[in-house]
Amino acid sequence: MLKANSRLDNRGPPGAVAAAQAARPPAPARAPFRATHGVTRATFPYARPMRSGRRIGVFGGTFDPVHVGHLAAAANARHAAALDVVLMVVSNRPWQKVSSRCVTPAPERLALVGAAVQGLDWLQVSDIEVRRGGDSYTADTLVELAADHPQDELFLVVGADVAAELGTWERGVELRRLATLVVVNRPSVDVPAVDPRWRVVHAGMPAMDISSTDLRERVRDGRPLDFLVPPQAIRYIQQRGLYSDPR
Ligand code: ATP
Ligand code: MG
Repeated sequence: MLKANSRLDNRGPPGAVAAAQAARPPAPARAPFRATHGVTRATFPYARPMRSGRRIGVFGGTFDPVHVGHLAAAANARHAAALDVVLMVVSNRPWQKVSSRCVTPAPERLALVGAAVQGLDWLQVSDIEVRRGGDSYTADTLVELAADHPQDELFLVVGADVAAELGTWERGVELRRLATLVVVNRPSVDVPAVDPRWRVVHAGMPAMDISSTDLRERVRDGRPLDFLVPPQAIRYIQQRGLYSDPR
């Protein structure tokens, strides 16, 4: 259970948080902090401790590169579902994408997301899929997070384009058992009718017609990323010379 004076209680819609708290059974005594989702300050500098009894958003992606559309989606998912924290889970090997293009190495994409969320305590980067290695399956990630956070509630955050493909994902029954879906709208994509077996929250946000695909082309063409990618992440892209090679 959240403590009334905790910092996170003062964020997000107060009515929704109160309703969410009222709907939940009282949490058992708080477990001591564990290095959940495998990220520790020692292994990854952007990791922050997590408390128990919280509503955790799990926002997966390739983030190649991360952009402000991702950050706005996370913020609006947090608001709509009264989430305490959103984890940006960087895919190790997005099996849907690797056959069609060369994906930037996972450590670079992790560093980019880490840079983008710097200073935000409600938004964290997770390396859970990178540490696991191999193809990344959301079901594995939810199973691991649920085991690490038995007192917390998981919310799977997806954009409308990803929501439309959920039927093709592995182990749908398990996914639906472990998480509530939060669907964020995305320009040029109709918000799909989701399988009614999901518990669903819809999160509205202003249409931001930004995609990593377009940003990679921008770098290749020498066009600016300013105001489309957080400045710390732009610096990292420039320092590492990412996205400048033709692929
Ligand atoms: P790419 O063009 O390489 O597919 P992308 O911009 O779609 O990149 P992803 O890493 O594929 O980014 O997406 C991660 C998640 O973020 C997905 O759930 C996707 O729907 C969501 N998302 C990405 N961009 C936006 C946006 N502009 N508005 C809302 N949601 C978004
Ligand atoms: Mg995409």
